Amino acid sequence: MLNVDDALRKLGDLTSPVLDTEVIPLTESKGRVVASAIDAPMDLPPFDASAMDGYALHANDLNQDRELDVVGESRAGYVYQDPLAPGTAIRIFTGAPIPRGTAAVVIQEDVERNGDQIRFRASLEIGENIRSRGHDIAKTQLLAKGGDRLDAYKISWLAACGVTNVTAVRRIRVALFSTGDELIDPGTPLGPGQIYDANRTALRELVSERPVEVLDLGALPDDPQAINRTLETAAEAADVVVTSGGVSVGDADYVKDAVARIGSLDFWKIALKPGKPLAVGRVGKALFFGLPGNPVSTIITYLLFVAPTIDRLCGMPDTTPYRLSAILQGTIEHHQGRREYVRGIFGMNDDRVTVSPTGDQSSNRLATFANANCLIVVPEQTGDIKPGSIVDIVLLPTDRSHIWTG
Ligand code: AMP
Ligand code: MG
Repeated sequence: MLNVDDALRKLGDLTSPVLDTEVIPLTESKGRVVASAIDAPMDLPPFDASAMDGYALHANDLNQDRELDVVGESRAGYVYQDPLAPGTAIRIFTGAPIPRGTAAVVIQEDVERNGDQIRFRASLEIGENIRSRGHDIAKTQLLAKGGDRLDAYKISWLAACGVTNVTAVRRIRVALFSTGDELIDPGTPLGPGQIYDANRTALRELVSERPVEVLDLGALPDDPQAINRTLETAAEAADVVVTSGGVSVGDADYVKDAVARIGSLDFWKIALKPGKPLAVGRVGKALFFGLPGNPVSTIITYLLFVAPTIDRLCGMPDTTPYRLSAILQGTIEHHQGRREYVRGIFGMNDDRVTVSPTGDQSSNRLATFANANCLIVVPEQTGDIKPGSIVDIVLLPTDRSHIWTG
């Protein structure tokens, strides 16, 4: 059996980044991967500005307890034209350009104002409460590098620098289909022995969180002709073809045969639970993944193998998911040999991170993902784990905002 890390390394060797790029509006760039370095086209902020509401002071007046005449006002969005003379102050607001000759801004909380005069007892340093031009980023410095994935934070920074278009790696084309005579799509009443196709939905939803174009080719019966035909379509159109079902030992080998016929196929037995069998290959220019059919196995093998492959195709650097330590609440029964990913719920308990498994971990049981926010990583050589033991967890990609709901 191949261990998970070796499987990932082998996959890495099979994958090279897609080089096609396209120019897209910044407003449509969320989740997309930057193709090459973006340098700041301007200084941000573009001028020296006040960081606070207060009064602009001359260098001679930074450290004194005498009255200064307030001779004008500088508001955000306007430029105060006259230079600041010693012995005078200018009322200024956050974000307003500082008048020429300003050495510091005294905050209004430290000022006593009487009519057109102020007095303050603070002692200020040169530059205090001034945001200098370019202190966020200077023109020509790196705003984003090739391989960066754009999120709300980066996009807002680019927008602040006036960037309107970015050159992004084109979307990765992912073709999906599931196989199994028992499968039908939700919306049709179940016939005898039938079940609804859960995997294609899971894959469609998971894959859509990445910069992809999804080609959903449906649920296919275990019929060699249908599988051959659909695989050919997928190979033509996609960078990655992901199927579920029909790769377990004992399955009629229609998927595997079809892949081997038009491309090349490797069949990996991975020391992994859930999700031991994984078919990996090539059809046309596309990489092929045949994921096991049990829904939990499909999801875990997607997360472990397909998701990082898509990231690599986008040119993103390889990363390892954060591992955190948590105190196990409950017991994990584990036979040595395979690495296991147990669905868990982690949280804070008396200021310590704890984690509980989500019940019966059968690989068909999507209930194990209900409320799960992490996977507990059980190493290959570990036996049963007792309550109170320290375990490693990796966070599940999720839009459940646990942080903000307390
Ligand atoms: P297989 O890998 O085709 O042998 O399937 C293993 C198990 O997963 C069987 O119980 C299948 O019915 C089930 N299964 C396969 N594909 C799906 C699917 N798309 N949605 C839900 N269950 C599935
Ligand atoms: Mg099947």
